Amino acid sequence: MHFKIAYLKLTVFYVAVIMLISVAFSVAIYNISAQEVGKGLGRQSAMMRDVQENSPLFQAFEDIRQSQIDEINANVRRNLVYFNLLILLISTVASYFFAKWTLRPIEESVEAQNRFTADASHELRTPLTAMRTEIEVALRDRELNLAKSKELLASNLDEIAKLESLSGALLKLARHDNKNGKVHSTLNISDVLVEAYERVESLARAKNIKFDNKLVEAKVRGDKPSLVELFVILLDNAVKYSPKNKEIGIKMEKKEHFVIINIIDHGVGIKNVDLPHIFERFYRADQSRNKEKADGYGLGLAIAKNITEIHGGSISAKSKPGEGSEFSVKIPSTS
Ligand code: ADP
Repeated sequence: MHFKIAYLKLTVFYVAVIMLISVAFSVAIYNISAQEVGKGLGRQSAMMRDVQENSPLFQAFEDIRQSQIDEINANVRRNLVYFNLLILLISTVASYFFAKWTLRPIEESVEAQNRFTADASHELRTPLTAMRTEIEVALRDRELNLAKSKELLASNLDEIAKLESLSGALLKLARHDNKNGKVHSTLNISDVLVEAYERVESLARAKNIKFDNKLVEAKVRGDKPSLVELFVILLDNAVKYSPKNKEIGIKMEKKEHFVIINIIDHGVGIKNVDLPHIFERFYRADQSRNKEKADGYGLGLAIAKNITEIHGGSISAKSKPGEGSEFSVKIPSTS
């Protein structure tokens, strides 16, 4: 609703500016025109005055001259009023569209922020509600013993871990949102990948997942912890969404002024309907599967996209359900 008012206010503002200019020009045009008409007909009058100043014919001529001037001026005034009315009409319509065009991106970003706040609140409330319910049930239980209490505490601890991981992800998202324009240092992208790989290695070992790394040397300008974070997200997902005993490929190639890093897995894959949305905040391709696993909030790829874009790059995904996925990160390279 307040955007509708903003559209109207901006429209009124644009129209006021346009009309101010238009009226100022019209007044100037009217004055110039009146002066020119006065001068033109004044020359005729001077000639007549020289010839027969005191004759009744001269007086009649003067009357006609004055009425001609009045008539021309009235015509000019009327035409300028019509012209300004036309400008008012056109500028009102154009200003309304222009105001909408100006405010639309702001409205969209406010809508996205509102959606994000609603999603974040919902995600934060879910573990809190679970904890509250468990505690209430336990408090009503007359036979609550030590074993049951410990069970309750362990379950509460799980919910607290979820809250911690969610608030951590939200903080990361906010941090990368505010990193625009930060000065970066030059680093070797293969060092970044090695560090990211080391972080997910133990997770992969637990599922007997092997890596096939084909790294090349390429320099990029960037923030190392953020870039490590980006590849940890992709590698972690590759491990998370792969069954046991599979292989994950890390391929790199240099192309023109870019380095392209591909993370290829042979896991569950992503359905075509989900693929365009996976980089959106809180989007999870398969809600039930993730709820069950309770180890994702759909924020990882949104953070990965933020980090890539901060580094002037782009991220994309290809996938075949049941066969696997390939995530491709393209960032500018300085070597
Ligand atoms: P999550 O924390 O749920 O993994 P992400 O933002 O990292 O959140 O990913 C969003 C969704 O994209 C995931 O819920 C998952 O369904 C899908 N996804 C991401 N990476 C992969 C992958 N390598 N294989 C299959 N699905 C994936």
